[in-house]
Amino acid sequence: MDPTPKKRIFIGLLVLTCLILSLLTFLLWYVPLVGLKTIHSSLPFFYSLILAVFVLLMFSGGLLLIFTILRGKDILFSQKLRGILAKILFPFMILMGKMVGVSKERVQQSFIELNNHLVRLNHHHAGPGRLLLLLPHCIQDFDCQIKITGNVKNCKGCGKCEIKELIELADRYQAKIAVATGGTLARRIIVENRPEAIVAVACELDLTSGIQDAYPIPVIGILNERPYGPCINTKADIQKVKSALLDLLGPRSLPE
Ligand code: SF4
Repeated sequence: MDPTPKKRIFIGLLVLTCLILSLLTFLLWYVPLVGLKTIHSSLPFFYSLILAVFVLLMFSGGLLLIFTILRGKDILFSQKLRGILAKILFPFMILMGKMVGVSKERVQQSFIELNNHLVRLNHHHAGPGRLLLLLPHCIQDFDCQIKITGNVKNCKGCGKCEIKELIELADRYQAKIAVATGGTLARRIIVENRPEAIVAVACELDLTSGIQDAYPIPVIGILNERPYGPCINTKADIQKVKSALLDLLGPRSLPE
């Protein structure tokens, strides 16, 4: 399977990360070797063994991730890979991106796409009422006076923004729906609702931190569209939201 450009960015940065970490590991191995020998003759052997295991694990994890992306199939441990990706690799990727001139935004987009890919491969399915559709506040029409952050169902359904359609979609697929004004509220909503899976719409920054914070709960992230600039009257691709909801609900009986 030919990976998309966003996934290719991630694979490139991943290979670079592995190479640089190997170089650092080599320096970490070579420099203190003589000193360790003077402490005890067997210390260099055990020290080398520990570092060799680290390098082996790093390359195995990297290769497994690349094969999973290229083959488009869950080969092994995609749930664990998702965790390693979110918690360990992603910060390195941002750093590597900076070094080779790939913008933070593109690395974030690449991370979101890869995360979605792994969630879908892992066939995570949420039970009825255990799927959460989490939306950013900026999707509400800027001039709408109704407060929907506490209860999105306060929306009068005038159709001036996509909140109306998204509520209908959530009702149709028995998903909970909530609007968050930021990361803190989003985390509180997740704690209170204890969802088994989440479809989140947001910008690159909020999605990447949300995916990292929510792990191990599977999150499919959908980037919002910003025709009027960031944080005002943003849009969500309804078809993408619908397809993400269907993917996380799995094969149980669903209306089309
Ligand atoms: S659809 Fe709902 S949230 Fe959007 S403008 Fe109308 S009443 Fe307000």
